[in-house]
Amino acid sequence: RQSVDKLPLTVLIAAPRGFCAGVDRAIDIVEKAIERFGAPVYVRHEIVHNRYVVDGLREKGAIFVEELDEVPDDAPVVFSAHGVPKSVPAEAQRREMIYLDATCPLVSKVHRQAERQIEKGQHIIFIGHEGHPEVIGTMGQVPDGRMTLVETVEDVAKLPFTSQDNLSFLTQTTLSVDDTAEIVVALQTRYPQIVAPKAEDICYATSNRQEAVKAMAASCDLVLVIGATNSSNSLRLVEVAERLGTDSRLIQRASNIDPSWLDGVGTIGLTAGASAPEVLVREVIAKLSEWRAVREEVIRTAEEKIVFKLPRELTE
Ligand code: SF4
Repeated sequence: RQSVDKLPLTVLIAAPRGFCAGVDRAIDIVEKAIERFGAPVYVRHEIVHNRYVVDGLREKGAIFVEELDEVPDDAPVVFSAHGVPKSVPAEAQRREMIYLDATCPLVSKVHRQAERQIEKGQHIIFIGHEGHPEVIGTMGQVPDGRMTLVETVEDVAKLPFTSQDNLSFLTQTTLSVDDTAEIVVALQTRYPQIVAPKAEDICYATSNRQEAVKAMAASCDLVLVIGATNSSNSLRLVEVAERLGTDSRLIQRASNIDPSWLDGVGTIGLTAGASAPEVLVREVIAKLSEWRAVREEVIRTAEEKIVFKLPRELTE
C-alpha cells in the first residue's frame, strides 16, 4: 500500500560514472600488496579520494599516512594514484624500502612530458588546483622554479613572461574541460609561441564523466554527485551541472541526502566521481526508493574499456 502512495521519481543515471581504470588499478595494488607482503602495508596519502574505499582497505590491513617519514624502513609502502614528487621515491630508495607506485599511468604520462619539456629548455605553465596532491606530484617532477601554476584566466594575465620566452604548458588530469579550454586560449593569446602538450592531459575518465552530466543535466531538477569534498573530478561534475542551470550537490553517502531536497523534484540525475564505488550509487538509489517510487534510466554517452596493467613487482 505504501509504495502506491509514493510520488514518482525518475533517476537518470550517468554512464560512464564512478571508478576509472587508474582508481581500479590503485586499489588493486594495495590489495595485492597486502596479499603478497602481509599486513600492514603503508599507503602514503589516501590511495584515492574516497572514505569508503580508504576505510575498506584499512580493514584489510592498510595504514594510511601523509608522509614517508611515518613509515618504518622495513614496511612496504604504496604511493597514491595522484602521483608523488620525485623526492619521494628517491627517499624510499635511499632508505632501501619496498615501495609500489600506484600513480595512474595517465598522471605518469604528464610527468614524463614535463621532464621532456624541461630537457628542451622550456618553462612550464601548469594549469591545476593549488594544493591538490596531483599538482604537488607533477610540480615535483622538475627542478624548483621551472614550473608555474595557474588556476584561472586571471592568473594568466599576471604571468611575468614575455612573448620571447621558451614556454610550454601542461594540465592536471581532472580539470573542467571547459574552464581549461578558456585558460589555454588565454595562454595562447598572450604567448603565441607556447608549446602545447602532445595530447590532451585531461584524462578520458574526467572528460567522459563531464560529458555524461552535460547530456542529462538539462532534463534534471537536481543532480547528485557522489564523491569526496577533496575529489577534484567530483567537484568538477557539480560545476558542470550548475553551469547548465541545474542545482547540484556533492554527497559522500546516501545518508547525506536531506529528504527536503526532493520537494517539488520529479527527475534527479545521479553520477559518481572517478574514486566513488558503484555500491554507493546503489545505496543512493535505495535511499531515494524509501521516499519515492523510483524509475531508473541510464544515460550513456560513452563506453569505457580501458584497463591498466599492475606494476611488474606484483605480477611476477
Ligand atoms: Fe587516472 Fe583519470 Fe582516473 Fe585520475 S581520474 S586515476 S588520471 S584515469
